[in-house]
Amino acid sequence: MCRPERTIVEIAPKTWLMSEYKLVNTYLLEGKDTAMLIDGGIGIGNLAEDVKKLTDKPTIFVATHGDGDHIAAAGYYDIAYMNPLDEERSRSFPLGRKMAEFCIRTRGPIRNPETPVKALLSLIPDDPLPPLPDFLPMGDGSSFDLGSRPVEVIHTPGHSEGSCCLLDRTTRLLFCGDACNDRLLIGNADRDEGLREALATFEKMWARRDEYDFICQGHDALDKSDKSFILDYIEAIQALLSGAEGSPRTDAMHSGTMYPHNKIMVWYNLNKSRLFLKES
Ligand SMILES: [Zn+2]
Repeated sequence: MCRPERTIVEIAPKTWLMSEYKLVNTYLLEGKDTAMLIDGGIGIGNLAEDVKKLTDKPTIFVATHGDGDHIAAAGYYDIAYMNPLDEERSRSFPLGRKMAEFCIRTRGPIRNPETPVKALLSLIPDDPLPPLPDFLPMGDGSSFDLGSRPVEVIHTPGHSEGSCCLLDRTTRLLFCGDACNDRLLIGNADRDEGLREALATFEKMWARRDEYDFICQGHDALDKSDKSFILDYIEAIQALLSGAEGSPRTDAMHSGTMYPHNKIMVWYNLNKSRLFLKES
């Protein structure tokens, strides 16, 4: 059985999409002094080693949000940032082999059907993941300077309370984590409150659309994505707040109410949004 390769795509100069075997997207940005890893996946394979092949700069870790499939590997980095609003959420995942196995068995056949589940399971490291770091705080308006490469934090709640996008002014890319994938899982259990919060986020992102050319998603897309995803969400959520309703839906990854519109799906009333927690 050959060991699966991590897909790495240079999406802009000194900017790489490092796909965690098509399960989660992480991104590496290099400035003149420092590199930034945006999200770190569920911790399979050896991301830190793959990062070192691309940059010799000291690397800081920045979490777009506190979900286990994005922060599990954060402990490999001495300096890590996250919005404190997601702190509690980040501590609620059973990180490590159990979560990795669960993600691979449920997400693998959907997100990476060409790679056998067994091959993905072989990527789980023998050594346990280092514990989560004490995240340094960041929030709306925080900024990083990687050395002639400023990156701004934009708070974009909806998927989670603390979700943030990162605006890279050099490449004009907006890294969105799970705030604007082709499916949005609304974290707030109160339907209308969650929808209103997400709508405000997409309106805020759209109001700043002249500051970036493309968005970069937290899952699935293996390249930059069109920013019109944001408009699709605005239209869908406005419809949902004006009386439209999705249909109950359960798939291997989620269970809740799903409303499709153009390129996107809005999921709300989630009752198993964190399926791997419920079954662990
Ligand atoms: Zn995710």
